[in-house]
Amino acid sequence: MPASNTEDPTRAAHVLLNLGAAARNLRRIRNVVPNARIMAVIKANAYGHGILRMARSLAGADAFAVARTDEGLTLREGGITQRIAVLQGFGSREELEEHAAADLEPVIHSDWQVDILENASLRTPLRVWLKLDTGMHRLGMLPAEFDSLLARLNACSSLAQPVPLMSHLANADDVEDAFTEHQLTLFRDITQSVASESSVANSAGLLAWHNARMEWVRPGITLYGVSPFPERTGADEDLEPVMTFRTRLISIKQVEAGTPVGYGGDWVCPHATRLAVAAVGYGDGYPRLARSGTPVLVHGQRLPLVGRVSMDMITLDLTECPEAKVGDLVTLWGEGLPVEEIASHAGTIPYDLLCGVTQRVKIIEY
Ligand SMILES: *Cc1c(COP(=O)(O)O)cnc(C)c1O
Repeated sequence: MPASNTEDPTRAAHVLLNLGAAARNLRRIRNVVPNARIMAVIKANAYGHGILRMARSLAGADAFAVARTDEGLTLREGGITQRIAVLQGFGSREELEEHAAADLEPVIHSDWQVDILENASLRTPLRVWLKLDTGMHRLGMLPAEFDSLLARLNACSSLAQPVPLMSHLANADDVEDAFTEHQLTLFRDITQSVASESSVANSAGLLAWHNARMEWVRPGITLYGVSPFPERTGADEDLEPVMTFRTRLISIKQVEAGTPVGYGGDWVCPHATRLAVAAVGYGDGYPRLARSGTPVLVHGQRLPLVGRVSMDMITLDLTECPEAKVGDLVTLWGEGLPVEEIASHAGTIPYDLLCGVTQRVKIIEY
């Protein structure tokens, strides 16, 4: 990490974004699926990394996917010219017109959206995706309705044909779970007579399930350098973390055994403790439910969080790191400390932590 442009002069929590790592993660995924086209998933502000920033860093993607219309419009206003699929599609006729005007590609998941399409008069042929529910039971047409809805879409003169197909895997991160093959078989059975491109694989699907590698893949979390699998980290998949979350020590004091620490006095020093405060809390997106023992890095050494996480501060036991002093950097997750590990200490998943970094946290690109 180049120290010169990643030194934050403030004491506050900040995020470093390694944009080169994002581009390398994309290349790594290309090598895994050289024959597939890549729709890079940058919904939710690119998993907290900044949607336009990541669209530019991932310019080698064949298309982007976002969840909602305004995310797609933000990309177009920012000058992004790649294809953009909107995973939740449009919610009204007016929103459909916004899709057409901005050349967004709505994912059609419900029959009421087909009704809207049939009654619309669009000037340009609109590209849409048809989503099939193969077992996630969130968005998508049920198998029984698929044929008739596809026929209706095929009959819409304002749509580009053939309509590409999509489905989503519910359990692909569990490589032992037979449900994924069940979903893939169902998808192939239902779509075998349709000459369309297909897309079913998220990150876990494209890494672990060969049968999920169709014409298109839709990686999200792996582009940010994070493993989709429990008990593994991005490094195990040859990925590099894009986000490193850091702050600084703002207080250190020596306290006696038996001293309660923080709200509720939940944690009581079991021995004489060099107790430190770092300037980060749940107001910055550090997870409030991170338990005592969650690691941070100071001088390359893992040290434990102790006591409850507050809004602006956390407390650390620095007894094992006598050289640490006020002003020193504390890595909360990222390079040297996988976010996957912090998520498991906080009873959540890395996606949640990446998306949760708040507005007040300064961002430094390098
Ligand atoms: C979020 C999402 C993805 C990407 O999933 P990752 O696990 O982050 O790779 C792919 N497809 C759909 C429909 C999604 O909602």
